[in-house]
Amino acid sequence: MAFGVIARYRDRLPVSATTPEVTLGEGSTPLLASTRIGPALGLRSLFFKAEGFNPSGSFKDRGMALATARAMEAQATTLVCASTGNTSASAAAYAARCGMRAVVVLPAGRVASGKLVQALAHGAHVIPVAGTFDQALAIVRQLGEMPGMALVNSINPFRLEGQKTAAFEVIEALGRAPDRLFLPVGNAGNITAYWRGFCEWEHAAQTGLPRMHGAQAAGAAPIVRGAAISNPRTVASAIRIGNPASWTTALTARDESRGSIEAVTDQEILAAQRRLAREEGLLVEPASAAGLALLTRMAGAGQIEAGETIVCVLTGQGLKDPQSFLRRVPKPAPVEASLDAVLAALDST
Ligand SMILES: *Cc1c(COP(=O)(O)O)cnc(C)c1O
Repeated sequence: MAFGVIARYRDRLPVSATTPEVTLGEGSTPLLASTRIGPALGLRSLFFKAEGFNPSGSFKDRGMALATARAMEAQATTLVCASTGNTSASAAAYAARCGMRAVVVLPAGRVASGKLVQALAHGAHVIPVAGTFDQALAIVRQLGEMPGMALVNSINPFRLEGQKTAAFEVIEALGRAPDRLFLPVGNAGNITAYWRGFCEWEHAAQTGLPRMHGAQAAGAAPIVRGAAISNPRTVASAIRIGNPASWTTALTARDESRGSIEAVTDQEILAAQRRLAREEGLLVEPASAAGLALLTRMAGAGQIEAGETIVCVLTGQGLKDPQSFLRRVPKPAPVEASLDAVLAALDST
């Protein structure tokens, strides 16, 4: 069986016979039917596209496989990116796999610890800068022009081409497009990529099109506000972006699909993250819960029909950002190693 997004979707991706089939086993992530949240929200067909099952723990791997393959084909020796964390984790992994160098420029002190560990473990050159993601991106745009360098941020067209395969998988799993798709919006590459994937498949096979609903964090919601933000703030570090690179294509996805891009508060994001962990067994990082936060609000306001087929994209794995839990949930204190002490502790929780 074909393995990885390039092998599985070769005829729908910009590759040639000589493009190497770079893969770490990305894609083919499960579309899980909700067991408890859907029914509680009054929705009969809610599904989670669990992108944390990708090899580096986020959807970024889909596009990174293709971007790395094309960089190798173009004889680049170094992958370079700016990152809020997951792009660098992914670039570092694929570079290691292919014997390339990875250079990652990060906003200092603002990358979740698990993601930083990934980049370092894979041997990337990690350069924190005293500034925001948007400033880091401005720097790597110039670095990417230098000989041997391949810029692998989502402004690299192969990233979005690889990411659109997630829409293909959703259609394959459901037998058609869902009625609505909810996902977080940061740099707005993913909402652009999903919309492209749905449109391409619809064009070929008439599977219908979903309404696209993007969620930005209230403190980092430039698209909702209609203006860039110089100091974006939110607990959801993966969408802490003030000037999205794919802004206009995100508006196209929203408008062509008759969807919406709305702001959700950090409180709503953390409540959705907690629910996914405690009611579905799905541990995701805060940003990944933003789509469910928006769906929860819209369902509560009666804006969704009970029979609609809804997909929420859970973009990344929760172990990447342990701090976002440990700040809120105290670690239990140890008790004496006896049955009585354990029973007493159980009684008191
Ligand atoms: C990158 C990322 C996002 C945001 O995706 P964009 O394409 O930048 O809009 C959301 N969640 C996670 C976990 C991410 O890594």
